[in-house]
Amino acid sequence: MKKFSAIFSLFLILSLLSGCTGPGSGIPDDGKLTVITSFYAMYDFACKIGGDKVHVVNLTPAGVEPHDWEPSPSDIVSLEKADVFIYNGAGMESWVDSVLASLGNKNLAVVKASSGIPLLNSDGEKSDGTSNDPHVWLNPQNAKAEMKAILDALVEKDPDNAAYYEDNYSRYSQDLDTLDGEFRDALAVVPFRNIVVAHQAFSYLCSAYDLHQVAIEGLAADSEPDAARMGDIIDFARSNHVKVIFFEELVSPKVAKVIAEESGCTTAVLNPLEGMSAKDQADGKDYFSAMRENLAELVKALS
Ligand SMILES: [Zn+2]
Repeated sequence: MKKFSAIFSLFLILSLLSGCTGPGSGIPDDGKLTVITSFYAMYDFACKIGGDKVHVVNLTPAGVEPHDWEPSPSDIVSLEKADVFIYNGAGMESWVDSVLASLGNKNLAVVKASSGIPLLNSDGEKSDGTSNDPHVWLNPQNAKAEMKAILDALVEKDPDNAAYYEDNYSRYSQDLDTLDGEFRDALAVVPFRNIVVAHQAFSYLCSAYDLHQVAIEGLAADSEPDAARMGDIIDFARSNHVKVIFFEELVSPKVAKVIAEESGCTTAVLNPLEGMSAKDQADGKDYFSAMRENLAELVKALS
């Protein structure tokens, strides 16, 4: 009897789970689509469009920096059973091509969310195809395009719920326009335009709002600057009214703190939405709240 009630409670818990579940969570076999995403921003967008009509599982664990992450054998097993796989592309997930080529899952719809978005290099100029910044989602208009790609895949895979997915997209695309307007208005009037950031993640954001980033580390967040590079950044900060050195939660702030001390700056977080801690997710933080925190920090730093 005890065992029966334990199983029954488990069933109840599973059937009450909302659409978005963490990695390793059991996916109930209830006919809803299983959607797998590569890292946090894709996960948040998929949850917003799919709502409670889909089960979304994020591959990169909460709070893990995704540039160097690779899927485990159990992640591959999950992909073999999934209906939809959503990744950013544009060089963000280096493992995707080989993993997709190895899969036998003929049912899997694959969404490269950045498809069709014009790619920029780390200076915010149109990429010549040799290198580009993958962090397209940090421009709200690009986030909208990525949500549209997710919408199209869900509608095709699950046409019975098309109206539901379209309503969600319509609501969030308006919210993204609102967010874009807030960035545009607030950043149009700040007197300074240079930001010093931990890694070159902000080309799309800077390009959209006429800012200029100087990055301590490269596109992938895993390199450490040499002494000459640190000296250049310290000189840049001293001579360009830079007040704040930005770092991000998933990368050690050590280097940013040294540069801040040497140049008389403070430090603050600028979140590239590559990951979100389990606590922040439980507290209801998402793309929109993190982007608004980013905007508040940018305005403070540039005023
Ligand atoms: Zn990055």
